[in-house]
Amino acid sequence: MISQMTIILDNNTYKYETEATVKLFIPAVRFEFLYDEHDAEGDVIITRMKKCSRYVYFYAYIRENGRVMRSACRTETGKFDVKDGEFTMCRLLFLLLCRFYGIKPKWGLLTGIRPVKKVNLMLKEGLNESGIRKEFTEKFFVSEEKTDIAWRTAMVQKPLIGDFERKTVSIYVSVPFCPTRCSYCSFVSHSMESAYKLIPEYLDYLCRELEILGEIVDTYGLKIDTVYYGGGTPTSITADQLHKIMKKTAECFDLSKIREYNVEAGRADTITEEKLAVIKEMGATRISVNPQTLNNEVLKTIGRKGTAEEVLEAFAAARKLGFDNINMDLIAGLPTDSFESFKSTLDRIIALDPDGITVHALTLKRSAGLYQDGRENIKNPASMMVDYAIDELIKHGYDPYYMYRQKNTIDGLENIGYAKSGKGSLYNIYIMDETQTILGAGCAASTKLVDENNYISRVMNYKFPYEYIRRFDELMKKKDEIREFFEK
Ligand code: SF4
Repeated sequence: MISQMTIILDNNTYKYETEATVKLFIPAVRFEFLYDEHDAEGDVIITRMKKCSRYVYFYAYIRENGRVMRSACRTETGKFDVKDGEFTMCRLLFLLLCRFYGIKPKWGLLTGIRPVKKVNLMLKEGLNESGIRKEFTEKFFVSEEKTDIAWRTAMVQKPLIGDFERKTVSIYVSVPFCPTRCSYCSFVSHSMESAYKLIPEYLDYLCRELEILGEIVDTYGLKIDTVYYGGGTPTSITADQLHKIMKKTAECFDLSKIREYNVEAGRADTITEEKLAVIKEMGATRISVNPQTLNNEVLKTIGRKGTAEEVLEAFAAARKLGFDNINMDLIAGLPTDSFESFKSTLDRIIALDPDGITVHALTLKRSAGLYQDGRENIKNPASMMVDYAIDELIKHGYDPYYMYRQKNTIDGLENIGYAKSGKGSLYNIYIMDETQTILGAGCAASTKLVDENNYISRVMNYKFPYEYIRRFDELMKKKDEIREFFEK
């Protein structure tokens, strides 16, 4: 497997989509982009466009380890527009790379992270089920089974969300700390001792931001629909600290009519009965206990502290305390994991009977330690694992209710949240379908403002706790953008 590829864009500027298309085939490779060159040393992909009076010509070329393949097509100049040109080029490149690498990515040319949103948009445009299936399979080359799961997910989530008023919002609270960092992690989680020392001060500022958001919610008569505590790992702080911020959340917002209150408890090594009791007492309706795998050897390999036994204990403790909506996250494609080991994890998790199971496919992000190892060290059948999960979970009464994709995911696979009837997380759907405004508090949180035409504007908080603390007053001035949005 190569580690670097040069991509030449000759007489075109389709960088973003070209990179996304190439990454479907070689996700863990570094790219160097050159413009309007004719060739380069070593491994190279070239996309070239040439406009003549009658035709626009498209040309794609790949050379890797001395092996060469090329392809071309043309369109009438009169019919050419830039967006179509981009699609034509990517289609040509996609088919060339399918031939070259001998694989056909199951999501075809769909590089976006929200396939279900695409289904919903097509429905809005008036396409029916067969029209949507046709677009997916024939225009974007999506496989029948992926088309099917996208359609099914869209149908499951529709009645779950129901209708909500425009002035209904969700709240996201960020606790961006973890005791240690897992090797595949690319989140802004801070595990170093120095960042840990910031926790008390960070929580003070977080409470101040909750007060400010609470005042905005009151001023504009907004209704809270869901609350989500994410991170990092919210349970990496103490029970008292959790109590403090959850109490503040309850003081700042009217939670009496919310439909859901999530706490991403996350890693079992941070979960205690005391913390679970606080989470329950403060009104959380749904938590996640995330094993990723129940294979202790794999856990060690990925540097994720905690054991399968701790996961089982945390789950049992949560059930004992009366949590009736518990989600468990798994990852398909972890290094050193095998199909049999993944199958055993999934079967054991299903036997526990949680209310939701989310199956992620491993993503290799540049910021994660694992990225350095590259794709060649992760030789396991992630695709087979994901297919097994789809079949088994649906068979056991878990419906797929939300789905998203990420760049650099093994085999271009998707992440799917499954849940028993009525137990899917609304917040997860909102994050993906982008139909509800979300007000974010804490570092790395973003506020997503959705207007009546579904146009989205974002107000981002600073990424790191020390920056969030040091520049807090400056940051709070940006909240005026939220006020202006609701003034309108
Ligand atoms: S627990 Fe989650 S957020 Fe924390 S380091 Fe591991 S993967 Fe990242």
